[in-house]
Amino acid sequence: MFRTLRSRLLFSYLVVIFVMLLGVAVALGVFATLSTVRFLPVLQNLAVISQSNRRDLLQMNVTDLRNGALERLLNETAEDNHVRIFVTSAAANEIIYDSNSDNNWVGDTVDDIIRFEQLQFPLDSRSIVGRFHHTNGSAWLLYSQPTNLFDRINIFYARREPTPSAFFQQFFLRPLIGAGSIAAVIAFLLALWIARSVARPLQQMADATEAFAKGEFEQELPLHGPEEVRRVATSFNRMATQVQAGQQAQRDFVANVSHDLKTPITSVRGWSQALLDGMVATPEEKERAASVIYNEAERMDRMVTQLLDLARLESGEFQLTHQTVDLEQLVTGVHSSLLPRAQEKNIDLRLEAQPVPSVKGDPDRLIQVFANLVDNGLTHVSSGGWVKISARPFGMNEVEVTVQDNGSGIAEDELSRIFERFYQVDKSRSRGNGRSGSGLGLAIVRELIEAHNGHIQAQSQVGVGSAFIVHLPIEDK
Ligand code: ADP
Repeated sequence: MFRTLRSRLLFSYLVVIFVMLLGVAVALGVFATLSTVRFLPVLQNLAVISQSNRRDLLQMNVTDLRNGALERLLNETAEDNHVRIFVTSAAANEIIYDSNSDNNWVGDTVDDIIRFEQLQFPLDSRSIVGRFHHTNGSAWLLYSQPTNLFDRINIFYARREPTPSAFFQQFFLRPLIGAGSIAAVIAFLLALWIARSVARPLQQMADATEAFAKGEFEQELPLHGPEEVRRVATSFNRMATQVQAGQQAQRDFVANVSHDLKTPITSVRGWSQALLDGMVATPEEKERAASVIYNEAERMDRMVTQLLDLARLESGEFQLTHQTVDLEQLVTGVHSSLLPRAQEKNIDLRLEAQPVPSVKGDPDRLIQVFANLVDNGLTHVSSGGWVKISARPFGMNEVEVTVQDNGSGIAEDELSRIFERFYQVDKSRSRGNGRSGSGLGLAIVRELIEAHNGHIQAQSQVGVGSAFIVHLPIEDK
């Protein structure tokens, strides 16, 4: 029934308005029942009639009760103003005249008038303002002003007591209906406005999501509407950007892999073809051809292994052993194993290992991490330079391993990208050093460190050198 946002909002507003009006109506109803204020308009009206009548009486100079003029005047007044007028003898309160001829009360007494002393009324002390219950059960409001003319009589102006519901209908019902109608119109406009401000962005979102599902990933939603809707739009935009970046990364990945595999394949194919065609004749040439083929095959093997490692690390399938590892010992081992290569390149490979708390991890993989970092340092440091590997406790819960060099350094805008897959600062130079990099090394290093619940950061300055700082959590005892 209430399927649209607008109808739901409108319905809820109307319920609130109805409940509030009902509350007000009940309060006013109770007020009308309990308070004597409901008698006030009638009594005021009676007072006005009495006063104007009094002026007429004075002008007529009525002196005798039996004078027909008085009776005529009272009859006329009663008829014109729809009031009942009766005259009582001042002494016995007995009704001696009643304007109502159908149900005449002449002869009855007007006793037990419940006076409204507290009503703010233009009274003199002899005025009578009150309620009167006739013996026939009817309730009346009475007003009588002292007549200086006739000391012996009282002229009462009377009307039936208004019931609480009559008073309510006369004074409160219309304002309540009016207020309710205005509130309903405002509620309708508000519901329309709020529904539009939510529905329009939602519609845009639905369109964008449908387009997205069809593979059109370049979607950006405008940020307007209420806060909650804007938050959803922001999340959607972020998701769209990430998916686009993911798509781009996938395209780049395929392009990079094909490119990096194509070069060695071309080389292998060329040399093997030359061997088959008998173009390579001498034993030296054959040896050279075999060595190129071997090296290129190794390069492909290394790259495929790295790719597989990365894929497994990213999917969480990579199995790490969880052993107690002494990092001081581990970096000392890495230092020793790479010392011959450093010496070969005339690079001072330094070691600064302090005793550190043990960490939990896979020692082979941690060796791979630090060997890779030292190897990168050796690649980018010129002859006569230095590379340093150090280990020390860091804070209460971590061990810090730093691999630092005084090599070429990395420019600031590239530093943030070196951990990306395939990212190489200078492809030709990496290759030119006799070692064919793939741009996967640091990506694997970061994945491995994160798989050990650690993190890695790089600091570098062009021409000064680089430092790769690894933090690993110490083993829980
Ligand atoms: P690669 O296998 O090509 O060395 P890496 O992922 O290990 O790829 O490194 C990414 C890039 O970061 C490399 O292209 C290299 O230029 C740069 N790099 C890595 N380590 C250093 C270093 N110690 N000094 C200067 N540049 C470095």
